[in-house]
Amino acid sequence: MSSARPSPATTPSDEPRSTPPARVLVLNSGSSSVKYQLLDMSDSSRLASGLVERIGERTSLVRHTPLVSGGETRERTGPVADHDAALKAMAEELAADGLGLDSPELLAIGHRVVHGGKYFTEPTVIDERVLSEIERLIPVAPLHNPANLTGIRTATALRPDLPQVAVFDTAFHTTMPESAARYAIDVETADAHRVRRYGFHGTSHAYVSRATARLLGKAPEEVNVIVLHLGNGASASAVRAGRCVDTSMGLTPLEGLVMGTRSGDMDPAVIFHLMRVGGMSADEVDALLNKRSGLVGLCGDNDMREIRRRISEGDERAKLAFDIYIHRLRKYIGAYYAVLGRVDAVAFTAGVGENSAEVREAAVAGLEGLGLAVDGERNAVRGGGARLVSPEGARIAVAVVPTDEEMEIAQQTYALVGKDN
Ligand code: AMP
Repeated sequence: MSSARPSPATTPSDEPRSTPPARVLVLNSGSSSVKYQLLDMSDSSRLASGLVERIGERTSLVRHTPLVSGGETRERTGPVADHDAALKAMAEELAADGLGLDSPELLAIGHRVVHGGKYFTEPTVIDERVLSEIERLIPVAPLHNPANLTGIRTATALRPDLPQVAVFDTAFHTTMPESAARYAIDVETADAHRVRRYGFHGTSHAYVSRATARLLGKAPEEVNVIVLHLGNGASASAVRAGRCVDTSMGLTPLEGLVMGTRSGDMDPAVIFHLMRVGGMSADEVDALLNKRSGLVGLCGDNDMREIRRRISEGDERAKLAFDIYIHRLRKYIGAYYAVLGRVDAVAFTAGVGENSAEVREAAVAGLEGLGLAVDGERNAVRGGGARLVSPEGARIAVAVVPTDEEMEIAQQTYALVGKDN
């Protein structure tokens, strides 16, 4: 960093300042990991990124990459006892680059929070009331919300004076009409237990649907987009004029598409059958459907690159897994076409969607009648940001749009608490 930056030891009150603070630290706290990025929203640049993995183990990993002035990635392993120690390790790494958490340029910390229920429809400045509502949602997000809360509490202890903002994975989907959000079960029972379709990956669906509109030279309000977020977790959404009207994940991220390790849609009676006839407990079925199903359950691999390699060698199980994955994806494209009535674009994003030309081609193969096709040459191009892969003049644009959840969280945080807003 340049010497003009405040030294890590400088306190906020010592520092003369002419421009309002515009840096946002984005934190994604999991149960045993913390990922972070520091962004400067005055020019939307990224200053640093990193992660702490295997928190609580003896071989925790701290990896930090300064993204300005050509700094190199630093990595070390060793015990990081808990989230408090993890955030302190992050703070030390940032300070070593002159980007310490005590910098007066730091405006806010934006937290990814997985489950905001029906309650949180927008990014929200965190206070005690917000914390207790996130806590109340733990029964519907038992893995994620406790880890998110730990991250928020730890970050607040480090900089109690800064606004901490929660950006919810579910928020973008709160515009779904009741006809899409309700399961067809007894209403009183559903409401008593908060059983409804919430949807996830909302930050990504929001970012990608807007970026797709931009790619088409239109405002989000002018276009209808089907977003296919295909990573290890996978979800589809139908976005009409910038608002989500349906999405494939439900009460939890288990519903919908075939994923890396999750089954996606199936007859709920499979669960009773496995319990009654297979003698499995609820926890065992839960683990089966979330961790040992999807691509990994079907063929032993959840990495699409490895599956394609095996298919090229004639592996039948890998081929069947791919075919089931594609079959489900096509069903959702068709379903969301019907939900939207008019579709302007289908956008592929996340690890598989951005990188696998084979998945994109197979997903729309034979759908020319619906106006959907990919151009072989365009589809084969690798990298290069948001781009069209449909043929010139196609009725529906097929696009590859790299997702950027950190940028979306930083933008939403900045829009909420930035001085100019
Ligand atoms: P994500 O959850 O978005 O990080 O996506 C991770 C998944 O993306 C991996 O499990 C792979 O299946 C897939 N992936 C990453 N790179 C490629 C690639 N070059 N080709 C096909 N799939 C890929």
